[in-house]
Amino acid sequence: MRCPFCHNPDSRVIDSREADEGATTRRRRSCPACGRRFTTVEEAVLAVVKRSGVSEPFNRTKVVAGVRRACQGRPVDEDQLQKLAQQVEDAIRATGAAEVPSNEVGLAILRPLRELDEVAYLRFASVYRAFTSLEDFEKEITELRARHIAAGTLPLPGMQNDPPAVRRRGAGRSQAAPDGSPDR
Ligand SMILES: [Zn+2]
Repeated sequence: MRCPFCHNPDSRVIDSREADEGATTRRRRSCPACGRRFTTVEEAVLAVVKRSGVSEPFNRTKVVAGVRRACQGRPVDEDQLQKLAQQVEDAIRATGAAEVPSNEVGLAILRPLRELDEVAYLRFASVYRAFTSLEDFEKEITELRARHIAAGTLPLPGMQNDPPAVRRRGAGRSQAAPDGSPDR
């Protein structure tokens, strides 16, 4: 390993220890030329196998690029995209698999993206779950509504939890209260 300080092409390992429950190895190195010390981290490459059979290292930047497309015009910032990509990598690494089909990377994006932005989620899901009809969208939107009802959270504008006929005055505000309407 090249020394990052003086660029001497060689360095010596003086200590090696496992970290992150054995998922990574940290090595303390010393440069014989300048005498300075630095640390390297070694971790197994998480391979993504494309449909063509070609495999390539998992790449967070690619995840971010794909999700960013789905988030066009949505209130999602760069930090949130980076965090999502990290969540996706963590989720895939947690399965312990050394390689995953690229389709599974797409599927692993769905859950955190649903929490982040539901419009972007629908766009992304329509591609990765290969929606072919309006019914596919309807089914997904019905599930999103059901999740809001279960969690007592606000739906998207235009996505109403209650059918219009039974909506109460102030329903938009009282939905934030978990134990029912405080202003009744
Ligand atoms: Zn050096």
